This record gives sequence, C-alpha cells and structure tokens, in this order.
Amino acid sequence: MKIQIKQHLSTPTETELNSINQLILLFPASIKDGKWPNIAHKADLKARFKRDPEANTRFELDLPNKAATHTSVATIDKASNEFELLGLARKLVANQLKTNPSSLSVAMPGLSPKQAAQAAEAILSAVLAANENMPSFKSKQPAKRRLKTLHIFNQKQKLETRTCLATAKGNNLARALTTLPPNELTPGNYRKRVVKLARQHGWKMQFHNMTSLRKQKAGAFVAVAQGSPEADAGIVHLRYIPKKKTSKAACSLVGKGICFDTGGTNLKPAQYMHGMHEDMEGSAVALGTLLALTELKVDFPVDCWLALAQNHIGPKAYKQNDVVTAANGTTIEVMHTDAEGRMVLADTLSFAAKKKPAVIIDYATLTGSCVAALGTTYSGAFTNQEHLFNAIIDAGKNSGERVWPFPIDKDFDSALDSEIADIKQCTISGGPDHILASRFLSRFVDKTPWLHVDLSSGNNKGGLAHIPTAITGFGIRFTVNLLLKEKLLEKVTPID
Ligand SMILES: [Zn+2]
Repeated sequence: MKIQIKQHLSTPTETELNSINQLILLFPASIKDGKWPNIAHKADLKARFKRDPEANTRFELDLPNKAATHTSVATIDKASNEFELLGLARKLVANQLKTNPSSLSVAMPGLSPKQAAQAAEAILSAVLAANENMPSFKSKQPAKRRLKTLHIFNQKQKLETRTCLATAKGNNLARALTTLPPNELTPGNYRKRVVKLARQHGWKMQFHNMTSLRKQKAGAFVAVAQGSPEADAGIVHLRYIPKKKTSKAACSLVGKGICFDTGGTNLKPAQYMHGMHEDMEGSAVALGTLLALTELKVDFPVDCWLALAQNHIGPKAYKQNDVVTAANGTTIEVMHTDAEGRMVLADTLSFAAKKKPAVIIDYATLTGSCVAALGTTYSGAFTNQEHLFNAIIDAGKNSGERVWPFPIDKDFDSALDSEIADIKQCTISGGPDHILASRFLSRFVDKTPWLHVDLSSGNNKGGLAHIPTAITGFGIRFTVNLLLKEKLLEKVTPID
C-alpha cells in the first residue's frame, strides 16, 4: 500500500497529541543524565522512565490524554550504527502496527538534524517492510494492512525518501517471491511473473530456454535442469536502458534461481530440504535490485540475469562423476549434485560477461560454509577487485545490510584440481566451500570486474535489521548503496 509521508517541523503540541493514536518517540541518550527536551506530558514520561530500570533504551506507555496515545519510547545513542538503528526501528514499528492503525506518528525531540533524518529513514524503512502483506495461503487471510499516513515530527530538512522507497519496493518484491511455495513458483510461473514485471517497468526481456541453452552448449546449466520432468528451466535476461542516451557500460546483476533444491541424486535429508524453495532468493534479489535501480532512474544500463531451474532427482538427473562442458568451454567434473547453484551460475555468468559490462554482481544462497563462517546476520562478499574491500564493507555498514569479504587467492584452486576435467565442481566434503565456490565461479566471468554475494543472511529467524520476516530479501539496500553512494562503477578496475 502507498504510504503518505507528512513532515512537521517541531515537536507535537499537547493539542496535536490529543489526536494522535500511535506514536514513536525517540530521545537522545542524554535523557539518561536528566537532560530532557521540552515535550507535553514530560512529567509522565519521566516518571515512567524512572520506574523501570529496563526503560533505559525502550519502553511503552499510553499518554493520559484524550487519545490515550499509545507511545513507544526509545533512546538513540550517538554511537548507534545503521544496523542497530534499523533493528530498533523494526521493534518499535512492530509494536505500533499490532493494532493495524491507519496512521502513525514519529517525534524526535532533542535529536540533532542528522540523527533525526537517519532515525526517520530507519522508521520509514521498517514501516514499508512491515506494512507489506507477504503471500499467505491460509483460508482465512490475515487482515490487510491499513497504514496510510506516516507523520514525521521534528524534521527540519526535507527528508530524502526516494532511495528508501525504491529499495523497499525491490525488497518487498524479493521477499514476496521467495515466500511463495515451490509448487506455485515453478521456473515457468516465475518467468510468467517476470514477463509482467518487464512490461510494467519497460525492461527488454529475452529468455534462453532449454533448447536454446543446449544449442549454446551451456552444459553446466543443462546438467542441473535436465533432471526436471518439465523443460521449463532457462536463463532470463532483462535490460533497463536509461532514458538519456549514454555510452556507459552496464552494471550486470546475476541471480541463482533454484525454485526447489532437493539436492538431486545426492538427495538432501528432510531436515535440510525443508525451506529449499528459498534457494531462488538470489534471483529475487537481483530482480529486486533491478526494480530499485529502475525506480531511481539511474543513468547507466542495468542487465539482470536470472538462472531459473529446479534441482530434481530422476532417471535423467545429473550424477557424480559426470563430466560436462560449460558454455565457455570449461570442462567440469561433477562431485556432488547438491552443488547445483555454482553449475547454473557458471553459464549464466559467462553469458553476462560476454556483454562486457562494467561490473557483474551475483547473488546466491550458495554455501552452508558461508553460514558456518558468518552466521545469518552477515552475508559473504567475494571479488576479483580486492582494492574495493573497504568500499564493500562501508556499503554494508551504511545500508545496514552487512557483508564481509573473504580471500579468493589463486592457490585455493589446488583443491579443485581434477584428474579427468579442467576443474572439479567442489570437494566432496570439508574445506572452505564458500571460497572454493567463488574460485569456481571466477572461471566464468572472464576479465570482468566481479562481486559475488553469498547470501548467508537470506533467512534470519525473527527478521533482520528493519525486516520483520525470516526471509530477508537481503542485498538490495547494500547494492544500491554500493553503486550510488560508494560509486562502484567508477572504482572498478579492468583485469588483465
Ligand atoms: Zn543445492
């Protein structure tokens, strides 16, 4: 639902509070030292703050006024980073939206203009995420969200909401797609949904189906998709072209779209197969990022490549010891059929690289070892642009979608030496699989500057930062920050 944002310069007056039902009140941490800014009902707030030692950072009360304004109060530390701020916003907003109100107010008396702007952006982000109904197949549908207006008080400068709105739109799309069950979001149905989106947003679209992929000798992709009873897998290529003519090279987004991962011939046990409809989240994040960049009308072209397939068992499914040839001629010895993500990405990356973009960014729920290394609140970054480590870390910190880089030096390759083919797909067990997967993928990007994001934080129980659902749609805020604030396209250097 579209939310109207109304900005007000000062703190709400007592009269104004009489008509506010839902209020988030943010104070500087200095109230702990007794420095309270002026606000109506200050005595009640102070008393409530004193009564409860837990209230140091967050508490709730209903103001003794006509509206019995339901108020969530929190203090903001100068040292709070974006991730913490977004997490706080998620909790405050969840509390306020419990009664499904149509209007919500935020006041930030005493915060510096910079802090107030940052806090308002965090609250708005949390509201946009929480206010979106995710797909539900319950016969009794959850109540539709009613929030229409967000009042922001104590906002001296005009809040820049464009980026926030665009990334939220992209994230909501990514989460909704990832939530869909696998019998609903088959590769075929996924493609149909993308056709509609392409029409709506003016993207050019091309689809490489299985026949075409066989012709193009994309043997790594075909190896995975051949196990499916329906030949609906394929590679989607979308393109956003800016209105103003440009000679700029494109930014290319690539996503792993395994609509269901059984593990294949090396079948997963139930415990690990459960939730494997989310193995397409990388493609949803690539698509959501394309949507956000389109909304922002960026001045460079954006390519988006989605590798849509399922990893099935069956008589035609690929198996261990198969040797297949990828589109770029690399021969691969299959080691484990559950390492299907890197197989479909291999050919998709080489298709993307052929178009000579300025940079390729790929997203994939790729390895368990990345989760083991980072947990589920950070995602892993892997790049052939080591000089950009700091820019990548900063984009993560400043967007609140945190990533951390890993080394991918050449000598890791020895673990993938094959007796029979150019490279092993992976090792059978052990070793730093997230790094080995990246070494494997690096063979297919040619000399293109490239960043691979292993989405270990694609699902985090209880939500993450401003996102209230376990499915996080992680990566869109990060990428938009990396491209537009960190100016990635100007910083990448060609590889020789
Ligand atoms: Zn797998």
